[in-house]
Amino acid sequence: MLIIVFACVVTTEVKAEKLIFGKHKKIIVIDPGHGGRDKGARGPDGVLEKRVTLTLARMIRAELENKYSSVLTRSGDYWLDIPDRTAVANHTKADMFISIHTGGSFLHKASGILVFYFKEISEPAPAFEATLPKPFKDSDIQIPWDNIQNKHIAASKVLAELMQNRINDQIKFMESKTESAPLMVLSGADMPSILIEIGYLTNPATEKELRNVEILSEIAKGISNGIDDFWHPSYSHKSSLHF
Ligand SMILES: [Zn+2]
Repeated sequence: MLIIVFACVVTTEVKAEKLIFGKHKKIIVIDPGHGGRDKGARGPDGVLEKRVTLTLARMIRAELENKYSSVLTRSGDYWLDIPDRTAVANHTKADMFISIHTGGSFLHKASGILVFYFKEISEPAPAFEATLPKPFKDSDIQIPWDNIQNKHIAASKVLAELMQNRINDQIKFMESKTESAPLMVLSGADMPSILIEIGYLTNPATEKELRNVEILSEIAKGISNGIDDFWHPSYSHKSSLHF
């Protein structure tokens, strides 16, 4: 019995070592939506999206501590232009970029989560499509930032689906899906990138939930698990709360 237990511990440690002490710690850039004069959505009781996104981003960073190097595009309540958010991810040579919003402008139901990956505004011609670099590989071709996410779309789609599943393992939403959209904050990111729209802050019930630290903590865990899954698909986690 003791031997079996010991073997399990060793296996777990080996997995953890691969995750933590690989070639380098993966760099995850978390982008808390809005900030400063851009307040984002506002709840009926005055809760602001820019505050919820920053609180959640800090909780995600805490979840990622020791496993990844994580960077926030903004660490306080100030305005940051959209290209500057993408620039943080590109300049730090991030392995993943995750933008966080809670405005729910794309959601149909009061409680929901929508995970976006990038979609080109116009589809490329087949000949051009065939020459696009494969995900995860660098290219010698110089692509301007406003197009560079094209080469990561397949990986970003996988990340979006994993993220949706893992957040839903922690919190059950009424509506949950992934979708592609030509979002500017994703278009220039040179790594797998998603935007997560969590809840609908202008809904009174959702506003209450989005200021509940316990619920935010479960969402942060779900996002951390989704990141783990992307690099190590064998990791899985179970649910505890309903939203
Ligand atoms: Zn927003």
